[in-house]
Amino acid sequence: MSARFEGLVAVVTGGASGIGAAIADLLAEEGARVAVLDIDDPKNQHSWHKCDVADSASVNSAVQSTVNQFGRLDIVVNNAGIGAQGNVADNSDEEWTRSWEINVAGMARVARAALPHLKKSNAASITNMASIASTAGLQQRALYSATKGAVLALTRAMAADHVREGIRVNCVAPGTADTPWVGRLLQQADDPAAERLALEARQPHGRLVSAEEVARAVAYLADPANRSSVGVCLPVDGGMEALRLRPQQ
Ligand code: NAD
Repeated sequence: MSARFEGLVAVVTGGASGIGAAIADLLAEEGARVAVLDIDDPKNQHSWHKCDVADSASVNSAVQSTVNQFGRLDIVVNNAGIGAQGNVADNSDEEWTRSWEINVAGMARVARAALPHLKKSNAASITNMASIASTAGLQQRALYSATKGAVLALTRAMAADHVREGIRVNCVAPGTADTPWVGRLLQQADDPAAERLALEARQPHGRLVSAEEVARAVAYLADPANRSSVGVCLPVDGGMEALRLRPQQ
């Protein structure tokens, strides 16, 4: 049996670290040729096209250089994103602008540059990285949640616009995942071990999500065998969004 992404080309934004790196690894393991679009060098085996998703010229050039290198583009994974902490009063105008530019407009820029190439593919998909914060009210995440709610709405609108062109658009919504990002957050806490326990307890399965689990969900949605999955938001959150458990005795 041939690998399911054999012959296909993928770009993964934010593929230098955490969830994006796991996605790039899995797509490559399953046969795709992968370009990582990131501000940072991925320091792995993937082809790196330096890219700041907040900058249109940078995105256009990275997508074009991917197509120049590999000759086509089939799979886009819009994963790059940054965090923001605080309630609605805590973030400056500059932080609001920066988070929006990376987390939301960044996905639109990459999609805009990729669409002409995706239209030529018979296995085209875009998968955006949403979050449990897209749908659940989390404390001290007002700005971040606003951007991730926008990712969910954007995903559905994009899916409607492009389904008849044969381009499937979906998103994945992880719970708290064990990545360098969350590691940085824990280090800032007064008691990192207690903070980690609190984050684990918040998820019904009692642990953090792994980057590899999120990658498998992205691969499912990108897999051309799953063409009937369109405009969906696939949670990978240990039940955090859907379940209401009684407290443990
Ligand atoms: P991470 O910080 O480990 O990796 C993020 C990557 O994005 C880095 O390689 C970084 O260099 C890159 N990046 C940042 N700004 C960029 C820009 N302007 N242009 C290009 N690349 C840029 O983070 P992660 O935890 O792997 O998160 C990845 C995605 O998953 C984000 O969209 C995040 O919102 C989402 N997410 C994470 C969690 C979690 O708990 N870790 C939960 C839900 C959703």
